[in-house]
Amino acid sequence: MLRFYNTPSRLYEPFAPIESGSVSIYTCGPTVYDYLHVGNWSSYIRWDILVRTLTLSGYSVNRVMNITDVGHLVSDEDDGQDKMVKSALKHKKTAWELAKLYTDDFMIGMDKLHLAKPQHITKATDFIKEQLTFIRELKDKGMTYQIDDGIYFDTAKFPKYADFARLDLENLKDGARIAPNPQKRNPSDFALWKFSPMDEKRDMEWDTPEDIVEGAPKKGFPGWHLECSAMILNKLGKTIDIHTGGIDHIPVHHTNEIAQSQTLTGKPLAHYWLHNNFLLVNGTKVSKSLGNSIVLSDIEKKKIDLMAFKLFVLQSHYQTESNFTWENLMAANNRLNNWGSVIERKWQVKSSATTDSKVTRALASALEALQQDLDTPRAIIHVEEALNYVETRGLEASAVDIMEVESFIQNGFGIYILTNDITAGQKLTLKERAQARQNKDWKTSDHLRDILKNQKIEVKDTDEGQIWSRLN
Ligand SMILES: [Zn+2]
Repeated sequence: MLRFYNTPSRLYEPFAPIESGSVSIYTCGPTVYDYLHVGNWSSYIRWDILVRTLTLSGYSVNRVMNITDVGHLVSDEDDGQDKMVKSALKHKKTAWELAKLYTDDFMIGMDKLHLAKPQHITKATDFIKEQLTFIRELKDKGMTYQIDDGIYFDTAKFPKYADFARLDLENLKDGARIAPNPQKRNPSDFALWKFSPMDEKRDMEWDTPEDIVEGAPKKGFPGWHLECSAMILNKLGKTIDIHTGGIDHIPVHHTNEIAQSQTLTGKPLAHYWLHNNFLLVNGTKVSKSLGNSIVLSDIEKKKIDLMAFKLFVLQSHYQTESNFTWENLMAANNRLNNWGSVIERKWQVKSSATTDSKVTRALASALEALQQDLDTPRAIIHVEEALNYVETRGLEASAVDIMEVESFIQNGFGIYILTNDITAGQKLTLKERAQARQNKDWKTSDHLRDILKNQKIEVKDTDEGQIWSRLN
């Protein structure tokens, strides 16, 4: 039985999909104006686990993730310089070139981290027509208004606007984080479509259709919130099962998605809303200006397995804040190596008999932990129960059991541990060493042990025989 913490109700709710056996999911994707940092990646790792848990629970998943390649401004509010434009100017590239560069890098990172690919990855710039249709329908319903810099959604006309995030709209009026746009009717109103500044030629801009704009023809580009609503409607339908994103999306981005979509369709946008907490770096929020914006290539440069980063993220629950430090990452790396040294036994154990119930039970508990609001820390503990059991059985353990644990680590966590059997030559050395020990020829035995050690293979002597493991 699956259960999720649902943001709108603030309760754990049993999961029941709209259509039995299948689940529709929308994940807010990246804004591709720079390399993703570890904080961004931790969010996609979280939702990878959601997909894996649903798949292991027998559901077929249909997921859409957007790529914001236009129109996401500096803040969640609608002021400030466009991130894409700012980055394009800095790198002396067009916004299109830049979007392609960072989209490609995102796809490569998804592969490296073994993140399940959404069935549809949709770019905002491929959905301009759909976004304009969305605006047209909202305009026909009398929910929009036009000011100098764009077409806005009138949040006062959506009475439930404050409900999702439990916003205090009165306070919002007084304590706006940014200089308010005096033309806006309400501080919470947001741009559906922004007009290009008259004196500026943008790389990415489109004609605003005549029936949408009032007055002279204007070029423009979509607001950030709109793309998600338009993509959900066009790819998944009026109501989806699960919508995911970061907790920072709750008060503005997701609140605005709901306002637009529910106004248009009259139906709830999603039945379950899951939000991941932040990953800090050295105890502070990840920020370019603080110089703590660590990217995947920084981890690779230190020759640390990216799977260790994934394990590090999963060691904490998605709803809790976690803290990235190099020490924490190294600890996860050691943990991963320990897992690897147990999995290496699949080539050494004597038995390939049917699975042991203790291993099966531990893995069933691990899946059950994932099904309880993606409790990855508890799932990891159960996987380690299975690994410890295998380890204590030494060479009497079953290869089938070991492969069952390995398969859970791959399918449940998306963690792939690279292990290799030793070479034929190394096997021969082990055989000779066993013979030497039988002959009580300790000198030869020690010498052969050193030979293997030089090849980064450590040998342990047990009652049943030698067990090797790779030195890291
Ligand atoms: Zn979104």
